[in-house]
Amino acid sequence: MIDFRSDTVTAPTDEMRAAMLAAPVGDDVYGEDPGVNDLESFTADLLGKEAGLYVASGTQSNLTAIMAHCDRGDEYLVGQEAHCYKYEAGGAAVLGSIQPQPIAMSSDGTMELDDIAAAIKNQPSMGHFALSKLLCLENTHNGRILPADYVEAAQGLARDRGLALHLDGARLWNAAVGSDRSPAEVAAGFDTVSVCLSKGLGAPVGSVLVGSTELIDRARRWRKMVGGGMRQAGVIAAAGRHAIEHHLAGLATDHENAALLAAGLDEINGLTADSSHTNMVFVTIDDADPAAVGDRLAADGIAVFAAPTTRLVCHLGISSADIDATIAACRRAVGQ
Ligand SMILES: *Cc1c(COP(=O)(O)O)cnc(C)c1O
Repeated sequence: MIDFRSDTVTAPTDEMRAAMLAAPVGDDVYGEDPGVNDLESFTADLLGKEAGLYVASGTQSNLTAIMAHCDRGDEYLVGQEAHCYKYEAGGAAVLGSIQPQPIAMSSDGTMELDDIAAAIKNQPSMGHFALSKLLCLENTHNGRILPADYVEAAQGLARDRGLALHLDGARLWNAAVGSDRSPAEVAAGFDTVSVCLSKGLGAPVGSVLVGSTELIDRARRWRKMVGGGMRQAGVIAAAGRHAIEHHLAGLATDHENAALLAAGLDEINGLTADSSHTNMVFVTIDDADPAAVGDRLAADGIAVFAAPTTRLVCHLGISSADIDATIAACRRAVGQ
């Protein structure tokens, strides 16, 4: 199956499994798992921060970060379509008693700075308000890289108004590779940054939250409270370290494949395709019955989420030969 549904479908390679088999382990809740300690400091260094925390998922990473920044009754400002507002089951509100203040967001992941400024409420004398403590950005947002000058302007605004900054960098790796910057450059200026190992990098599980030692110590306590204190997690941490060391540069291939796929699909009558400049292709299907198009593709061994507008995600399980096969299959699936 050529599976374009997400880059989370990537499976560990044989080399990654060998690294997992060889991993030395200890009890991570005691701080004694060498593989976890190594992954945390390695990732923090790579992102230019003091300390790291290995967590079960990107959702747990964002949650423990928001809880490290905000107290009960505070709020975080976040894009209306951002993962850490819309797709995390309301965790910050439910588990942290932290109110989200969603802000209108455009499809490139930006929010108007005026809208952010107008939503900040942090005068303690105003007893009406939850106190704004944190601004969250997301990079990439749906495969799109936030413009560096936008990030700097938003960071400047947040600093001027006394807000801390968190970056949901689940796909920060794609942003770095796609804009020829180091991971540390993309992470610069944020107090905490969350990165996923389980997406394009291809580890089976795990994310790392990085930031100052003080913030990471706070997040570590919340991680324990939400049930994320793991024991001999070195086995999975080894997969994460292997993923960063061996799969980061390969994201460029995913980006090339996405560009080829977008160009090929866009030439087909009845399809409009547009690449995100990283690993995603957005496709609009004119066919009145996109589900039937999806069924025809499935019969050809290609998995997509069938919808009038859908997203095809390239990753290390997809080769350039798969791209050619997919373009041909899409042509057949829309009756050409
Ligand atoms: C995938 C993703 C996450 C975290 O997802 P988990 O499934 O919890 O690991 C967070 N933010 C963004 C932008 C994501 O794409």
